[in-house]
Amino acid sequence: MVLKAELHTHLEGTASPELVKHLAHRNTMSLPTDLFNTDDTYKWTTFLEFLKAYDLASSVIKTPEDYRDVTYDYLKQCAQQNTIYVEVMSSPDHAAMAGMGYQDHLDGIVQGIEDAQRDFDIIGRIIVTCVRHLGPERSLVVAKQITGALHPFVVGFGMGGDENAHHPSDFAPAFNLCHEAGLPCNVHAGEMAGPESVHAALDHLPVKRIGHGVRSIEDSNLVQRLIDQNITLEVCPGSNIALGVYPNFAEHPFLKLKDAGCKVTLSSDDPPFFNTSISREYGIASEHFALSDDELIDITRTSLENSFADQKTKDKLLARL
Ligand SMILES: [Zn+2]
Repeated sequence: MVLKAELHTHLEGTASPELVKHLAHRNTMSLPTDLFNTDDTYKWTTFLEFLKAYDLASSVIKTPEDYRDVTYDYLKQCAQQNTIYVEVMSSPDHAAMAGMGYQDHLDGIVQGIEDAQRDFDIIGRIIVTCVRHLGPERSLVVAKQITGALHPFVVGFGMGGDENAHHPSDFAPAFNLCHEAGLPCNVHAGEMAGPESVHAALDHLPVKRIGHGVRSIEDSNLVQRLIDQNITLEVCPGSNIALGVYPNFAEHPFLKLKDAGCKVTLSSDDPPFFNTSISREYGIASEHFALSDDELIDITRTSLENSFADQKTKDKLLARL
């Protein structure tokens, strides 16, 4: 089986219905029954319903131990799919909504990463993200939390949330603070919004990678800019189809971006919500984009080379390929 690496997955969005029910029980919380389908998957149809289901499921992650368990469970699944490295995006804002402080939330995730590395020989790292639609002030609070307590497992800073809320320049203070503290950055763009959102992100934010960025294909100047600026795209085909960004895999621009010379990688985004996994994403690339095993290993190599891990960790992982 091909060795895999993943750069784009939201930690709260990795929790399976089974784990969410377990955590709800442990925290004596009740969840609405319409959160799940009868086959133990999440129930949603529209994008707004997806967001609501995501927030409801995340609301049961209430303690450092819960964060440890979510992290451990996800890394275990990834290791079983021959994955050697995962960067999870954590959201202190989601933790705060559940009543947890930054340090407690971080301590839980770090414990999950350490336990998974010991038990499954998988390396996990954290990209702390702010939420775009919560606004620039909140993003600066998160950036100050990260830079005020740097941890070796926190390897980057990023931003998710509604791509159409605010302007990237509003978030420059938060990104610049993290960048100056030595943390590489990524940002979601070019998924729900068009290529202009990717241009705007590159114009105003010190980012090395774009979350999704698939709609860059609509602007050939942007494609060239991504190549010239050595930007890596964190492509999540299963998520794009589940959310209707493209009607089917035949219409998905993964191959066009790759053939044009863009650095593309494969990730699962919010796996149980999109009925996917890192293994399925590699399977999609094999089945629908006709990538050979050697080409899939090249994708893993691109992920590792452009991960935010330190050079020593990267070298060790690359040697395994
Ligand atoms: Zn995402």
